[in-house]
Amino acid sequence: MRLSDREVYAIDDICSHGAVSLSEGDVVGCELECWMHGSRFNLRTGVPSCPPATTRVPVYAVRLVGDTVYVTATPTPCRGASRMTVLEIRDLQVSVATEEGAKEILRGVDLTVRSGETHAIMGPNGSGKSTLAYSVAGHPKYLVTGGSVTLDGQDVLAMSVDERARAGLFLAMQYPVEVPGVTVSNFLRTAKSAIDGQAPKLRTWVKDVRAAMDALKMDPTFAERNVNEGFSGGEKKRHEVLQLELLRPKIALLDETDSGLDVDALRVVSEGVNRAKAANDMGILLITHYTRILRYIEPDYVHVFVDGRIVQQGGPELADELEANGYDRYLAQA
Ligand code: ADP
Ligand code: MG
Repeated sequence: MRLSDREVYAIDDICSHGAVSLSEGDVVGCELECWMHGSRFNLRTGVPSCPPATTRVPVYAVRLVGDTVYVTATPTPCRGASRMTVLEIRDLQVSVATEEGAKEILRGVDLTVRSGETHAIMGPNGSGKSTLAYSVAGHPKYLVTGGSVTLDGQDVLAMSVDERARAGLFLAMQYPVEVPGVTVSNFLRTAKSAIDGQAPKLRTWVKDVRAAMDALKMDPTFAERNVNEGFSGGEKKRHEVLQLELLRPKIALLDETDSGLDVDALRVVSEGVNRAKAANDMGILLITHYTRILRYIEPDYVHVFVDGRIVQQGGPELADELEANGYDRYLAQA
């Protein structure tokens, strides 16, 4: 594709979704759109940014010498994510077991999170935001009574909690639990081994852990403390983000990762989330009560969550509107 004299890209002509010629489609920004099904592929990387295609189309390095265009014969190997991941939540209904019997909390949640996208879920306390995160992660206390959750078409609800983690889902909990007798260092290595299906190479692993802790401004002695035991609010959140950076999930659910943080800690933690996102094109579902964190982690989409369902959706401007006017308008509707 020749966009200008200096901008020439080489990409396979056939869409990864179906036998459709991509060169007959339009270029939108730096993406090529499949004219038949609407998938868009990054001209530089070949990675799709919207469905139905979910796998990369090969791209080739291009060199311009005067008017001559040289294209390499073999495709450029992919760096980072070559596959777009899609988490699809459809009409999700969830009850929680209470002393007075089952209580209905989620009342039909629809949400799609793709690689590289950041979705903010904002809503008043008690609206069911944590319930949504726990249900997707597989907490046994939450009973799914209807709807579906899939990750790249695979039924997430049929998976055990560790299968969900291996499939690429990660939950940073609002209230992380203590694990007495297990050090942070052991915990991280065990989790990494379980998720990758093999133990990480010791030398690089130790270096990775140290670098990640350093970037999160965590004291090295922290690694020898027991998980969450006596951790301050800020330490707990840093530890969640440390896991995120080392375990490299495809989709991260972050439940109030901003709560209890002062401005400095909020910045450090947010930068960690942004690094993890950039490193492997992670998709993020960011649950928050306050707009403050959205200054550091920019959402592509904002969803207002009230009374167990999404009642409004928009772009980042919706967060500004909530900042100014609060949730009253939506509560009155519910
Ligand atoms: P949010 O995260 O938006 O503050 P939650 O998902 O934590 O909301 O809670 C939604 C509702 O479900 C609340 O009324 C809460 O009391 C109830 N709930 C959540 N978990 C439980 C539980 N384990 N036992 C009893 N009630 C629960
Ligand atoms: Mg909550």
